[in-house]
Amino acid sequence: MVLGTAYWTAFRPRSQVFGPFPYRARTADKVVALTFDDGPNEPYTSRLLDVLDHRGVKATFFQVGRCAQRFPSAARRVVESGHVLGNHSYSHSFTSGLRQPRQHEEIRRTQDIVQTITGVVPALYRPPWLCHWPWVLHAVDDQGLQVVSGTFAHPLEVLQPPARMLTTAAARRAKPGSIVILHDGREARGGPRAQSVAAVGPLIDRLADQGYTFTTVDRLLGVPPYLR
Ligand SMILES: [Zn+2]
Repeated sequence: MVLGTAYWTAFRPRSQVFGPFPYRARTADKVVALTFDDGPNEPYTSRLLDVLDHRGVKATFFQVGRCAQRFPSAARRVVESGHVLGNHSYSHSFTSGLRQPRQHEEIRRTQDIVQTITGVVPALYRPPWLCHWPWVLHAVDDQGLQVVSGTFAHPLEVLQPPARMLTTAAARRAKPGSIVILHDGREARGGPRAQSVAAVGPLIDRLADQGYTFTTVDRLLGVPPYLR
């Protein structure tokens, strides 16, 4: 019980006990940042980009290095289309987050891969499972990145409930300054994400009807998207 409480205290998305870990921007403006984790994962990442590009909405993709190696053209399209590509570790391994030397390596390796594929070096890092142990934050800070949290669109998105449920849950949770977390992959394993992709167009339309506009995490937080 104590351990469970400690885990929740440390890892819940809004936990700030280990230092600044922004999950939203302080603003009254009706603006949200849509973020997509665990890609690239084809064909879902490309379908998602079609949805976003068709609506002229820019989003932030926290990609896994191993997945970017597998689907480099999807990673490249994210950057070329004007979306922002952030680092989401190399292997999405839980145990890698438990030790600082491996955490450093998880970040650095993906920085190198993304630079090779896209030409940019991410300045944003979202740790897998939003685990922000002090040594994780230290490793992120040490490499000059900004750590980013967010609000999960739906607690059971991993199980791919019907798209309309994802849309409804995400729209209900969105507030001015929200950083909304959806997934175009699953950890480093890929897998079907059709419901998540199908939820995004209606989500954008619903929020736009409520007066929301969309931006990327770097702009929302007022930090640079890339180190170079
Ligand atoms: Zn993830």
